[in-house]
Amino acid sequence: MSKSAIKDTMDALVIELNQHTYNYYVLAMPTIADYEFDKKLEALAKLEKEYPEFADPDSPTLKVGGDITKTFKTVNHKWPMLSLGNTYNEQDLRDFDDRVRKALGDNFEYVCELKFDGLSISLTYEHNKLVRAVTRGDGRKGDDVTSNVKTINNIPHHLRTNAAPELFEIRGEILMHRAAFEKLNREREEIGEITYANPRNFAAGTVKMQDSREVAKRPLDCFLYALNTDKTLFKTHWESLQTLITWGFHISEHNILASSMDEVFAFIKHWENERYKLSYDIDGIVIKVNSYSQQQELGFTSKSPRWAISYKYKAQEVETVLEKVTYQVGRTGAVTPVANLKPVQLAGTTVKRATLHNANEIERLDLHLGDTVFVEKGGEIIPKIINVNLEKRKTDALPVIYPLTCPECNTNLIRKEGEVAFYCPNDEGCPPQIVGKIQHFISRKAMNIDGLGDETIETFYQRGLIRHISDLYTLKNQAEALKTIDRFGEKSIENMLKGIELSKQMPFEKVLFGLGIRYVGETVARKLAYGTGSIDRLATATVEELTTIDEIGQRIAESIREYFSKPEHLHQIERLKAYGLQFMAKEIAITLESDKLTGKTFVISGVFEQFNREDLKELIESNGGKLLSSISAKLGYLVAGDNMGPAKLEKAKKLNIPLISADDLLEMLK
Ligand code: AMP
Ligand code: ZN
Repeated sequence: MSKSAIKDTMDALVIELNQHTYNYYVLAMPTIADYEFDKKLEALAKLEKEYPEFADPDSPTLKVGGDITKTFKTVNHKWPMLSLGNTYNEQDLRDFDDRVRKALGDNFEYVCELKFDGLSISLTYEHNKLVRAVTRGDGRKGDDVTSNVKTINNIPHHLRTNAAPELFEIRGEILMHRAAFEKLNREREEIGEITYANPRNFAAGTVKMQDSREVAKRPLDCFLYALNTDKTLFKTHWESLQTLITWGFHISEHNILASSMDEVFAFIKHWENERYKLSYDIDGIVIKVNSYSQQQELGFTSKSPRWAISYKYKAQEVETVLEKVTYQVGRTGAVTPVANLKPVQLAGTTVKRATLHNANEIERLDLHLGDTVFVEKGGEIIPKIINVNLEKRKTDALPVIYPLTCPECNTNLIRKEGEVAFYCPNDEGCPPQIVGKIQHFISRKAMNIDGLGDETIETFYQRGLIRHISDLYTLKNQAEALKTIDRFGEKSIENMLKGIELSKQMPFEKVLFGLGIRYVGETVARKLAYGTGSIDRLATATVEELTTIDEIGQRIAESIREYFSKPEHLHQIERLKAYGLQFMAKEIAITLESDKLTGKTFVISGVFEQFNREDLKELIESNGGKLLSSISAKLGYLVAGDNMGPAKLEKAKKLNIPLISADDLLEMLK
């Protein structure tokens, strides 16, 4: 390679890697696997060593990575938050161990820890009180996200110890458990929101949200793994971790002490497979020299400590062939490409399909039919294609071209400005959209209609029995047609019709959610229902009026306007009204947001005649109160309904917790 070609290669790598760093840290939406990133970074570092004259002062090899988000206060780290050196194979790790051994001799130990795949956080405690939580940012300074972090249950706000120093910092990793990730992502998908690629991005996105109340609704967890103090309190890292447990911090129970590399490798080997049994993702393990004085002896490079290193697991990856790409049209009309693969074994399951997310992804991969692709299974259930093995591409392979028209109804697809997904706009005539909308309407979280399932809806649609949500309410006039459907006996029909009849009593917010307006999820539907009081007010409210309602932003408001601008929709609503569905909010619409309950904690138990629990919870939270999961001495109030468990009642009495009724709660808000 000529010198100028080398310089070009290096410059291109700098630009590319800086973009990836930005995608990762700022957008929290990486488009490259960590492993790939590290390989490229390594390649660049190697070139910089050989050709220092071409090294860019802005090179990502000199930075920890990361960036600061404008909307949060920037705070300097008292102790810089450095990166960790990464290794991917046994030899790299042995080299690290040799360097350590050279400096320290043979008399030292390692602490082996899991490398949690989340985002790092620095917590500062003063006088036993949590005063600040800051993201890593660029390593020197990060974002102050204290109020968001305070919503995480296992991060103590106050310590019950008199052994802690006046001021200290503790570091850890915030993460989201896989089950919560999958549940929340599914909910996002249901309302047409972009889904997150993995739990880490979801956690990172959550910590950077503007509204702490929204953060509180998303379950995050935190594992802590390092203590920084001005005066050294302990001789070893291990000792400090054990003590932190007694101060009330959540420390992983999987840490071990190792006195040889054999033990380190055994730990790595054990977790390589065992990690799939954890409820959260780890992407490797970390080893740290145990003794603080030995850590000091080793010191730091500009980027990372010399006394610690991580070993990253390669994501499980296999090669297979892309047979074809199919396109799924969802309830909201979004058209999602799906890769159909030659079946292959990966991480214990047979993989036949992989998600391609959107048109950009096809472009990024430059996919061709028949391509040999690398498929990876990370935290997510659905595997994804990492890249293409170009060497195996046939010369006559045809590129995959994202369609211009809907694969189901042939309507021209559209893409809204600023969005990645293409949509089929034919919401009134596109079969999967029609069926999907009715399925959404009857679903558990919407109208919760008993005796009716997704498949039945599909069948009814194919038989021409229903085309709109409102047609459900005239099914009772179709008794003869219903009887001709296989496996649909008299009893089933009766059950279904009863369920449909009962749904007329479902409150307005459920009906509104059931209509399936884009971006109107469960919570938004409730806010809109109480914020406007009725469908008529909602249908005529302007964007400006709508955005004065708590949590309703421009995007949601515009989507609502668009929905009600269509005559078909208004016509449907008129029909539903005529059948007797609820289109007015109930009277408990005192959800005027306030801070009247700030500092107060509640547990709700039992059943309530006039309220459902969700409403009570919402009421408490939207007025600044906090819900606890169990009864303890810390609890402020127990909101007690009927049929409360006797054990709970007894515990509350023993601890002298005031019992209040739902009416008392309303009284507190007056
Ligand atoms: P990297 O981002 O690959 O340079 O790795 C460094 C990051 O690993 C730290 O900033 C932490 O966020 C994270 N990490 C996860 N688990 C641990 C652990 N047990 N000890 C230290 N760092 C950890
Ligand atoms: Zn269509």
